[in-house]
Amino acid sequence: GYQRVLEENRKLYNQVQDLKGNIRVYCRIRPMVPGQSNTLSSIDHIDERTVTILTHSKNGKEARKSFTFNKIFGPSVTQAEVFSDTQPLIRSVLDGYNVCIFAYGQTGSGKTHTMTGPKELTEEGLGVNYRALSDLFHLSNQRKDTISYEISVQMLEIYNEQVKDLLSTDKIRNSSQNGINVPDANLVHVSSPSDVINLMDLGHKNRSVCSTALNDRSSRSHSCLTVHVQGKNLTSGNILRGSMHLVDLAGSERVDKSEVTGDSLKEAQHINKSLSALGDVISSLASRSSHVPYRNSKLTQLLQDSLGGQAKTLMFVHIAPEYEALGETLSTLKFAERVATVELGAAKVNKDGGEVKELKEQIAYLKVALARKE
Ligand code: ADP
Ligand code: MG
Repeated sequence: GYQRVLEENRKLYNQVQDLKGNIRVYCRIRPMVPGQSNTLSSIDHIDERTVTILTHSKNGKEARKSFTFNKIFGPSVTQAEVFSDTQPLIRSVLDGYNVCIFAYGQTGSGKTHTMTGPKELTEEGLGVNYRALSDLFHLSNQRKDTISYEISVQMLEIYNEQVKDLLSTDKIRNSSQNGINVPDANLVHVSSPSDVINLMDLGHKNRSVCSTALNDRSSRSHSCLTVHVQGKNLTSGNILRGSMHLVDLAGSERVDKSEVTGDSLKEAQHINKSLSALGDVISSLASRSSHVPYRNSKLTQLLQDSLGGQAKTLMFVHIAPEYEALGETLSTLKFAERVATVELGAAKVNKDGGEVKELKEQIAYLKVALARKE
């Protein structure tokens, strides 16, 4: 009896979570920046959730394509505003959820700007990474009378399907048993935002050391800042664990295979493979497929525990306003649309069926039933 009620309860809870949609997609449009052409494509940000792009077909016909996401951030939206829509996820890390935040887009579209900030960092320029961590400290401090939290971070880079620890100089061993685990990666305990800033500096330095061999390695590798949170309830002694992956993905631009050879071709193939593996994983989670192909790339293996299930995913897709970028902009938006299917589908169920409400009522009922059993 008890076990069954518990299981029922969990199943219903999962369904409600699924219906609410654990994958969010935000689209950010970069402003014009110095050094880029000022011939712009016609991008219209028509409401909070919809963006339209003017395209030309082969016979010169013009058409407007429209894309809908959970949120569109126009070119003048500040770092603080972008973060304020991310904040609820940060709180849930402290509640024991696993969270993944990705920055997707072609090179130069603003991924690093969103996650880290501009090169000359100012207070207002601080990206999601810094803001998320300082929020974690702030919130955990608010709860310090009931829960004692420990926060530690890892910084990894995935380049050509190899995982490298950015907080050390040794290469990480790959144990292929169950996804990849990274036992040797440095997991560094942090107790203040300034600890984190120092570590990120170290990570960025380590990353750029590698870029002497090939310029701008950062656009050809994924970088992943992982935050582990452990909270101990001071009354019950219960431990909860949450994690957050903050991922600045490799540039999504398609490389013309006829034009590149050797190392560049290899890089392009690896990037292609891992970004499409990521898309496949997210869309099979979206369609509730029984098989989720986590094992097709290092990136998805690394994030396996944090994608799907009760994990929460947020993808920032970035587009550049230049006309030259139009082809990539469209392919970025198509990728993003595929990723966004879950939530959009869910929103529909929600509107039509009132199923969430019904399931919530059932949960409330079961909770009472459960409490009586105890
Ligand atoms: P990516 O990481 O996708 O290659 P970057 O984040 O390096 O792109 O952005 C390219 C350039 O555009 C950088 O100089 C960056 O500071 C600037 N930039 C990107 N997004 C914005 C923004 N929202 N506001 C102002 N400048 C931006
Ligand atoms: Mg970058």
